[in-house]
Amino acid sequence: MREPEREGERIFRGIPVSPGVSRGKILVYSKSNDCIPSYLVPEGELSQEMQRLEKALVQTRQQILDVQHKVEEGMGAADASIFDAHLLVLEDRTLIDEVTRLMHEQKLNVEQAFYQVAEKYAATLSTIDDEYLRERASDMRDVTARVLSSLLNRPHESDLRHLREPCIVISADLSPSTTALLDKKMVLGFATDTGSKTSHTAIMARSLQIPAIVGLRNVSGQLATGSYALLDGYNGYLIINPTDQTLFEYGQLVRKHVNLEEKLRQLQHEPAVTLDGARIVLSANVEQASDTEAVKECGAEGVGLFRTEYLFINRDTLSSEEEQYQAYRSVAAALKPHPVVIRTLDLGGDKFLSHLQLPQEMNPFLGWRAIRFCLQEKEIFRDQLRAVLRASVEGNIKLMYPMISCLDELNKANALVEEYKAELRAENVPFNESLEIGIMIEIPSAALIADTLAKRVKFFSIGTNDLIQYSLAVDRLNEKIAHLYEPTHPAILNLIKMTVDAAHRNGIWVGVCGEMAGDPAMVPLLLGLGVDELSASPSAVPEIKFLIRRLKLTEAKALAEFALQCESGQEILTRSQELVRQVAPSLSERK
Ligand code: PEP
Ligand code: MG
Repeated sequence: MREPEREGERIFRGIPVSPGVSRGKILVYSKSNDCIPSYLVPEGELSQEMQRLEKALVQTRQQILDVQHKVEEGMGAADASIFDAHLLVLEDRTLIDEVTRLMHEQKLNVEQAFYQVAEKYAATLSTIDDEYLRERASDMRDVTARVLSSLLNRPHESDLRHLREPCIVISADLSPSTTALLDKKMVLGFATDTGSKTSHTAIMARSLQIPAIVGLRNVSGQLATGSYALLDGYNGYLIINPTDQTLFEYGQLVRKHVNLEEKLRQLQHEPAVTLDGARIVLSANVEQASDTEAVKECGAEGVGLFRTEYLFINRDTLSSEEEQYQAYRSVAAALKPHPVVIRTLDLGGDKFLSHLQLPQEMNPFLGWRAIRFCLQEKEIFRDQLRAVLRASVEGNIKLMYPMISCLDELNKANALVEEYKAELRAENVPFNESLEIGIMIEIPSAALIADTLAKRVKFFSIGTNDLIQYSLAVDRLNEKIAHLYEPTHPAILNLIKMTVDAAHRNGIWVGVCGEMAGDPAMVPLLLGLGVDELSASPSAVPEIKFLIRRLKLTEAKALAEFALQCESGQEILTRSQELVRQVAPSLSERK
């Protein structure tokens, strides 16, 4: 779609992660820490720099007092008292004296001096083996971000939740938790310097249906709030000052989409069945209980992956058994008789609970994540398992464990389920005695022992997002190596094949709930490899159904056969894209 830049226009290209085209003013929310200005200040101007710091400290203090006041009104004094620690950071004379010394000794500007000193304190605190002191590191970083926002006149994270006018947000990065709080009516789209297609920030953007581009490298450092932009979430272009010609071309593209969407909507109540009669179960991935409407509207047959982490994120307390029970029950009730696969908590990696203050890890994706965390934090796991069991009398709930790497983890998790079932029986609390339990296959070791695991579960769901990152040793968040993150790598297709064959040998079904399932170019391959279910973001479901209904399973099988003996991931991808273009050309027309 894009041609060379036109006069006045500036075009940035990144990784498209959430479809849609939006236009509006940009808001540069945060720039990376590399972009904190660093310059020498003449001796005579140092006192002015000090005044700027004093002013920023006063402003930040007022902001924190305002937030504290709101929290006290909404949640009570105990929750509001956490901000006392933030206020103390602002009054820390040692910190401020050290900033002043650094400014005088090195003639450094105040932002850089404040950042360097505060970061040194935070880094030291975060390595101390004492929970209380580690918590102070995060207070320190939070307050530092506020002070820097004030010095640099940039919005702070909390401002993003209270935008006054619609805009396109530009940021160095956005965490999944911040993304989850974005107001769809105000955030027309977002673009970040870092990130990749399978980061949870990207997944959340798709779930919220906010057009988004990631991996734009240093875009946030080059743009200023207030410029006018067009964001193309289909192809990954951020266009600043688009010309009339560009706006006209995009108008046509959007019209094509409206037509395609209308065509897709007509399939809402139709089954996902291939031209030669193979029935595929097409489900949706959800992040919050409120996503059930989107599941129904997109025409999915239930939920193949409920990422329960978001019930825990962006709050100051854990989600109780009762709260979780209500959430699971309501989703199951709204979607019955369709299944709802509830995945147990997958914290860690790029999803954290700020209030738990877990120690920072060198390799969080290889660390204390998901089932590893739950098997040690038994109180948290108990609340969740009891909530799922209790909710299982309503609708068609299934339970799924993430990140299983060995049989022992599966056995331990199952033993806990049995223990909580016994508790509920003793309490006369009803639950579904034959609740089906499955696991995610997202670690290569699990795919390699799939036969052993298949004998003990009722289903597999392949988490390709992690399976790819762990098999190819490619961090799923890192845009610099995104070219190596290759779903059609022969190793990945072989692992999927092994998993599918093991599942079928043992008489259980196997789905895919990673982002591969929502990518039209991957669908023929997955069907050809024998996958029974696909679970994708609700925004991807209509086009996946459209495609399945235009494919023949025999064609998909021939493609998979070719792929399994082909040595080049690129060649496999090209063949698969050709097949999709041939059977469903309208899906390719948005480029
Ligand atoms: C996966 O890894 O493919 C998956 C579906 O889980 P998540 O993206 O939440 O890690
Ligand atoms: Mg995963």
